[in-house]
Amino acid sequence: MSPFSLCLVLSLAGAVYCLPVSVIKEQEERFAENYLKKFFNLTEQNGPSARRGISPVTKKLTEMQRFFGLNITGTLDNETLAIMKKPRCGVPDVKMARFSTFGNNQKWQKNTITYRIENYTPDMTVAEVDDSIEKALQVWAKVTPLRFTRIYSGIADIMISFGRQAHGDAYPFDGRGKTLAHAYGPGTGIGGDAHFDEDETFTFRSSKGIVLFLVAAHEFGHSLGLSHSNDRRALMYPTYSYKNPDTFVLPQDDVNGIQSLYGPNPVNG
Ligand SMILES: [Zn+2]
Ligand SMILES: [Zn+2]
Repeated sequence: MSPFSLCLVLSLAGAVYCLPVSVIKEQEERFAENYLKKFFNLTEQNGPSARRGISPVTKKLTEMQRFFGLNITGTLDNETLAIMKKPRCGVPDVKMARFSTFGNNQKWQKNTITYRIENYTPDMTVAEVDDSIEKALQVWAKVTPLRFTRIYSGIADIMISFGRQAHGDAYPFDGRGKTLAHAYGPGTGIGGDAHFDEDETFTFRSSKGIVLFLVAAHEFGHSLGLSHSNDRRALMYPTYSYKNPDTFVLPQDDVNGIQSLYGPNPVNG
């Protein structure tokens, strides 16, 4: 083999080896930017921080790392990327003007709230869905004066539905994983409504799928006016993690949050 052809082979091998790494890095950076746009209000590169030379991505990465209690590096490290890849709620973690209906910290000006289940996921039986939704609402009723009444037609305060991708509002779902559901804060129209991503596999109590009860209890927190908590143990923490629904107890952070809006349950305290 002549020196020339050897060099060619080596550089080709180099290209084959290097290309996927840089492509993956680029994909991860794009993925991270989308995540920060969706959940941390990353906007276009302007404003005072851009003029000071701090990139908006660095600023938002720092904000995200602080929220999740990670090492604050301002870079897309593995720990940060791992959190971004976890299945989670679609509601942003910071206030956003254009998402004012999400997690708006408003409250219902009444203690009897109606809900309606508009459709069902084929992943579970009708009875399992009904039971999961009812139990998820009772999580909040137990510690507040709130009572939930189911209706079967017309417009309820909390309209509950399953949909995939574009499903009738401004925030399309994203296929399996990533965003699992989202819900709107108290208000008229879409206010209070909870949407579940049908591309997930929902289950009644298996650790293999996504437990509908856990996701629904979290989403109804938004329906009642709560935003995300940065307390890792809180139900209102943005990412999903499996817990046994049979032994679930509402964490103290969530009790404090909901009681600050509605007060304690007059019977249970
Ligand atoms: Zn949420
Ligand atoms: Zn929706």
